[in-house]
Amino acid sequence: MALVTCALRSGSKGNCIYVGNEHEGVLVDVGISAKCALDSLKEVGINYKNIKAILITHEHSDHISGVRVLNKKLNVPIIASKGTLDYMENNKKLADNTQIISVSSENSFYLNNFEILPFDIPHDANEPVGYRIYVDGQSCSVVTDLGFFPKKIQNFVEGSDIIYLESNHDIDMLNKNSNYPEFLKKRILSRKGHLDNSTCANNITKLCSLGTKHFVLSHLSENNNAQDLAYQKTYTTLLAANAEPDYDFSLSVANYYSISNIYRIK
Ligand SMILES: [Zn+2]
Ligand SMILES: [Zn+2]
Repeated sequence: MALVTCALRSGSKGNCIYVGNEHEGVLVDVGISAKCALDSLKEVGINYKNIKAILITHEHSDHISGVRVLNKKLNVPIIASKGTLDYMENNKKLADNTQIISVSSENSFYLNNFEILPFDIPHDANEPVGYRIYVDGQSCSVVTDLGFFPKKIQNFVEGSDIIYLESNHDIDMLNKNSNYPEFLKKRILSRKGHLDNSTCANNITKLCSLGTKHFVLSHLSENNNAQDLAYQKTYTTLLAANAEPDYDFSLSVANYYSISNIYRIK
């Protein structure tokens, strides 16, 4: 069976990624409306009844805004760190009687036919995590919202068949953006902020050399990045390291306005 994955939406305004196979899967984050999530699943050809759980990376609204309403329909377990779940419960982001599963970093667990490995990410939230999800012998990692890329995360995700990695901003664009107050720029650039295009490019190049083939640039900033810019940065960095397109790697960019590439990896 193939690993099937698709970013239903991804960007600083909202995120929702499907990971599974042809029969069942999970959503990583629902930071979009329930309607958008359901319409997108339909467009991809996935029955919403096949969703077995919602995994949450952290409590920022671009990752959880649609969870409560969507889960009225899905009625599946919500899986997240204790810190994230505490925030969601205290702020009424979950309906009463929602089944929750609290996970701790570096402790993998099984859900149906999936093995899920959560790991810490450096971000200004309550115990934020990334996930590596093993499906039928393949694996997919989702790593967004991180101020830098620690070696430890590299160890957790290396060898994944496909990796969603944040390529949030171009540092020059961010610095020159007069609409952004200094404190916000500092937050984004901090070690608990977001990953810039160059850092993303360098880490993808490293991960490619360690065996991962498919990369999806994710969580692009609406105001401090452009799809072409992010793509070119990583693409040229890969080429400079002698990685060959199609043979060594495939690269795409996820966005907030439409469904991204649908991957079926055997
Ligand atoms: Zn965040
Ligand atoms: Zn985010």
